[in-house]
Order: sequence, then C-alpha cells, then structure tokens
Amino acid sequence: MLTLSELGTAEAVRFARWQKAVQDDLSGKAGHRLIAECLDGRLTSLDRLAAQVPEAKAVVKARAQELGLLSESVANALTSYPFRPAAWLVDREITPPGHEEIDLLAPAVLGVLKDAHREAVIKFLGIWSAVQDGTLSTSAETIELLQPYPNDPKTRAEADSVVRSMWGAHKGLLLHENESHFAGAVKWAKVFWGANSMTTRCMRRREVETDEHDLEEGDVDTPIDATSRGEAPAPDALPEGGAHLRQLAMDLLSSYVEALETSPARLYDDEPQEVHSGLVARAGRDVITALGAPDLWCMEHGAHIIRALVEVRIYIQWMAQQDPSIYRAFQEYGAGKAKLYARIMDELPADARRPDFEDAIKDLEKLSHNDEVLDHRVVDTRDSFADGKSIRAMADECGLIDLYRQAYYMASGVAHSEWWSIETHAMERCLNVLHRGRGHLIPSLSLSSGGNVELASSWADQLYTLIRISLQILGTDEKAVHNAFAWLKAERDEGPSEGDGVIVSPT
Ligand SMILES: [Zn+2]
Repeated sequence: MLTLSELGTAEAVRFARWQKAVQDDLSGKAGHRLIAECLDGRLTSLDRLAAQVPEAKAVVKARAQELGLLSESVANALTSYPFRPAAWLVDREITPPGHEEIDLLAPAVLGVLKDAHREAVIKFLGIWSAVQDGTLSTSAETIELLQPYPNDPKTRAEADSVVRSMWGAHKGLLLHENESHFAGAVKWAKVFWGANSMTTRCMRRREVETDEHDLEEGDVDTPIDATSRGEAPAPDALPEGGAHLRQLAMDLLSSYVEALETSPARLYDDEPQEVHSGLVARAGRDVITALGAPDLWCMEHGAHIIRALVEVRIYIQWMAQQDPSIYRAFQEYGAGKAKLYARIMDELPADARRPDFEDAIKDLEKLSHNDEVLDHRVVDTRDSFADGKSIRAMADECGLIDLYRQAYYMASGVAHSEWWSIETHAMERCLNVLHRGRGHLIPSLSLSSGGNVELASSWADQLYTLIRISLQILGTDEKAVHNAFAWLKAERDEGPSEGDGVIVSPT
C-alpha cells in the first residue's frame, strides 16, 4: 500500500517482476506453491516464508530494493511501528513517525479505501504470484479477462470486480483450511491501528474545513474546547422571526389564567382546575424559558419541551375520560412521592447534613400533606398516578397514540440518552484515516447552533393547543375565554406580521 501510494497504481507491475525474481531465486528451496503464496504483499506472509526458507530474507529484500519497491520513505514509514512483521526488511530502530511519514501513511490508507482499482490491484498481488508460478486454476473466461490486467482500460472495471471477489473467495478457502491462517495478520493490524492512535491525534471536521466555504449554512457551531476559548460568540440576540415568540407564549399563558379567573369557578370541586392549571402552567413556563434561550431551539437541548407539552396533553385528555376522582388521585400520588423523597433524604447521616438540608426535608414533608401525628399518606411507588399505567397506554386510550409516537417517543429517546441521539448530537467521526480508516466516533467539541425558529414556533403552537383543550375540558365560560384571547384574534385579523409564528387551532 505504501509503495503503490508513492509510485502510483500503474507501477504495480514492479511487484510482479519482484515475485518472479524471488520465485526464481528460491526455486527448489521450498515447495513452489508455498513460495508463491507467501508473495501476496502481506508482511506476515514474508515472515512465514522466512521461517521456512532462511535465505529468503536476503533475496526478498535485495530484489525489492533493486526494483525500487523499498524506498527510503517507505522504509522510514515502516520503522514507525513496533512488533512489525518482516522487521528484517528494514534494519533500523523504531522511530515515531514524523510529518513526512504520516504524509505517506495517511494517503496510502485513504488510497485503498477510496480507489477501488488500487484496492483491486493490491488484492491481485496474490493471484499474480500464482499466475507466475503456474498454480492458478480458474475458468478460461477469467484467464482471458485477467491476461491484460491491469493495463486494458476497456476491461479494467470488470476485471477489478472479478479480482476483488476472487480475493474474497481465496481468503475464505484459506480460513476454511486453517482457521488461524490470518492470526498473525490480524495481530499486526491491531498493532498498526494501536500505534497510530498513539502517534497521531483524532481529527475533527472543523479542523479540516478551515475554509468557511466548506461549512454548510447553519453549521457555524460554537466550539466548547479550551483551544478555541474566547472565540465563542456570546449567545446571540433572538434569531430573526423568533424574537416575538417568548412574549407570545407569555401572553398565551397569562390569557389562559385570565380566562380561568374570570370564569365562574367551581370552588366546591377545585381539583380539576388546580390540576389543569398546574400542568398547563408548568408546560407554559418551560416553553417561555426555552423561548428566551435560542441555544435550546434544537432537538438536542429542546427535546424536553416537546416531551412536557405532549405529556401534559395526554394527561389532561386521558383524565377527562376518567371518573373525576382521578384529579384527586393525581395530586395524592404526587404527595405520596414527596413523602417518599423526604424519607430517602432522611437516610443521610446527621453529620453529613447542612442546615438547608433539614429545610429541604421539611419542605418535602409539607408537600406530602401528611399529618404529623397520624401518618396517613400512602406512598405509591408505581410508575404513574393511574395505577402505574404508562403514558403510552394513556395515549392509546384517549386517541393520542399518534401524537405520542410522532412527538413524544423520539423526544424521550433524546431525554434518555439513547445511543442514536448521542451519536447524532454529541459525537462526530474522526477524520484521521490512520485511525482504522472507517472513522471511530469521538465527542464533538462543537455545540449545536440551536436557533431553529420553526421548532420554537411549534412549541408556542403546541402551548396554545394545550391551553384551548384545557379550557374546553374544564368547560370554562366561553365569554371569559373570548375576552381573554381577544388580542389574539385582533392580531390575526391584522394579518401576520413578518416572522410571526402561525397559531393553529386545536383540532
Ligand atoms: Zn481518531
């Protein structure tokens, strides 16, 4: 690989000459088939040959030098590696690779990965050796196809494919005959990648694409590592088209509260309204806060917003189908959890507590609404307030399974650190081809740019939908609702000003 990278694929014919010369020189010293098989281009194969035929070392090396296959630069690159097979090819101490060596190694690896013809020619070396030795047996068509290879441009692509598949089949045969045929080669490959990981560093996309034109729009990420400290732009002002969203969400939430408070209240039965307004306010506060921080306007950091909105909607729509005692059950389940948390905190030994810790326990005890004398509060440790029923089952029962699947499910995956989400949001591929070619995953040092106005607008829309559904379920006085949201209708009649989020009606 190193030699062909340096000389170009067309010079592969020198390997054929080298194979022929070595085969002739060693003729009679060992079975000719063994000699031919050991000249397939692998360093481990050369070691296998030398183990059988000691004089092979000198012959292999001398012929390689004669044909220009073992240049100074290739030799230097080879000496970068410890535990190298056929170490006798180069008689030097191991030296860590410098720029020159890496500049030869990296394109050599990339060359075979990207250039299918180069790959095929390297895989052809073993076949070439068998051809010259007269031991290759294959069909007449294949022989005809391979005769002018790799010099006939008309048949090259076809022959490349045939060569690559023959190589695979031959490899299968060798493994069938001896499971550990490639044990030495695999061991060496591990050493190769391992040494690379120590001598060269991981490479991130932004290091390679210093030219701004290479970066796609919206990809101007904020770096978070020390090397770029001080360059990170401060969180910007709200992005164009999204600046009004926070105010909109605040107006929606306050109009919701206004509608509830100007509507005749059913104070004899206050749990439904308490639970509703509590849940909507919780989601609304989340939305308002997130809308003030454009860094959160992306899936990576904003998934919890969608999750909260959908969760609250499923809760209220599901509860609307149950016996009204469900609202009380919802509150009692929470009170029980507060008691549980207080007990858990109380497990901390006295000497580890600070004064505010005692206060926190007292607060939780208060929230458990338990009697100090008579401990009546039941702790329900099941997963939900509804006898442990899952949010998915609730969604299914109240006709929101599609919303659950399409909006909540994936956002949950992000919240629970599912691997796909980490992979796409927090990781990137190492671009150093010397790190196993295919690129391992490394933590990204760029922050997501956020600022997705469409996503942020959808939160405001969803909040509005939630509010209308809540008012509908609670049976809030229509006139009170109309008055509280009159500003919205007026705004809509004026027509959307540029960049306004579109408010959708609940359907
Ligand atoms: Zn790497």
